[in-house]
This record gives sequence, C-alpha cells and structure tokens, in this order.
Amino acid sequence: MIREISAGGVVVRRAEDGWEMAVIEPQREPPADDAGAVGKRKSQKVVLALPKGLVDAGEKSEETAVREVREETGLLAVRVTKLRDIKYVYVRTWGDKERVFKIVSFFLLKYESGRIDEIDPEMRIEVKQALWIPLEGAERKLAYSGEKEVVRLAQDYLISHSDEVDAIGAESSRVAKKTK
Ligand code: ATP
Repeated sequence: MIREISAGGVVVRRAEDGWEMAVIEPQREPPADDAGAVGKRKSQKVVLALPKGLVDAGEKSEETAVREVREETGLLAVRVTKLRDIKYVYVRTWGDKERVFKIVSFFLLKYESGRIDEIDPEMRIEVKQALWIPLEGAERKLAYSGEKEVVRLAQDYLISHSDEVDAIGAESSRVAKKTK
C-alpha cells in the first residue's frame, strides 16, 4: 500500500476567556451527483480540520508542522510539544484510485504572529478558510476522530502546563521592549 507521511499543528493563543485554536475548512471536491444519503448529509456539514501537509524530503516533522500552519492559516507559531501520531487509510479519488496508508504527526504550537486566513491565493485550492475557534469544545467541531483525540491531548496539556506555555515567547518580547 502507498504510504504518506504528513505533519500538522494545533496552534493555540490566549483569548479573553480561555484558549483559542486555529482550524481550517478544507476545500473538498463537490459530491458526485449519485452520492448516497450519507454522502449528501456529510456534504451539507462544514468540515473543520487541523492544518497539515506532507513532510518534504530532508524536513523534520515539526518543521513541516510549522510550515504547513503558516501556509494554510497565515499564522507564525512555535513548537511547544509533540502531541501524537494519527493513522488512517483513504482511497485516492484520482489516478488508479489507490489505497493510501497515512501517518500524520501533530504538534502543539503557540501562536506568535500573523493574521488568520491571510494566505497565498494559491492556497485557496486547498483551504476554503482558516479561523480561530474556542479550544473548549473544539473536538466536537472537528470532522475526524483522530484529530478530535489530538485536540483532547492539547486541552489536557494546556491544563497541566499553562505556566510553561504562557512563558513561551514572553521573555523575548520583554527583552525586545527593554532594548527599544
Ligand atoms: P495533506 O494535508 O497531508 O497534504 P491531503 O489534503 O492530500 O493531505 P488528506 O487531508 O489526508 O489529504 O485527505 C485525503 C482523504 O482522507 C480525504 O478523503 C479526507 O476526507 C480523508 N481524511 C483526512 N483527514 C483524515 C483523518 N484524520 N481521518 C480519516 N480520514 C481523513
């Protein structure tokens, strides 16, 4: 079976009342006319997913996660921790309709800069929109069970390591202010 290795991120930032995370609404092919009842029901629902993409040759998976997050959401973010790998099999809708075994490594990333959804026009082929949603309850909004689990791990990590995550980037911005 063909294998694909991708990496992606849960990007978080503090909002007034808790954490927010960045998600994308991927562009999906329009459903076939003969789609069954399940397909029709699915096609009406907005699919939300985590930003991710294929690991390039010579690239570390965490570098891919940061790069794909930048390309698909417009956000610059830094690594906090590895969350987990998810695995799934899908059938290509193009070419020989081959089955693909896919592994995606997800990282928790902390937002640094950039405006969500300010992405290269070429990325619109893949991303309909990128948006911030509250981290609390985000797992219910994501389409895929593997990604829901990743978000639960991010929620748990932020509860047990909130001081550590708050400190990321805080020192460098203080230094920058002092030297101004
Ligand atoms: P990448 O974002 O890694 O470049 P891609 O956009 O080419 O990849 P996927 O996002 O893996 O491909 O989508 C291929 C198929 O797998 C689609 O039918 C999609 O609905 C499905 N899919 C995507 N993510 C998951 C998941 N976490 N669990 C199960 N199926 C998924």
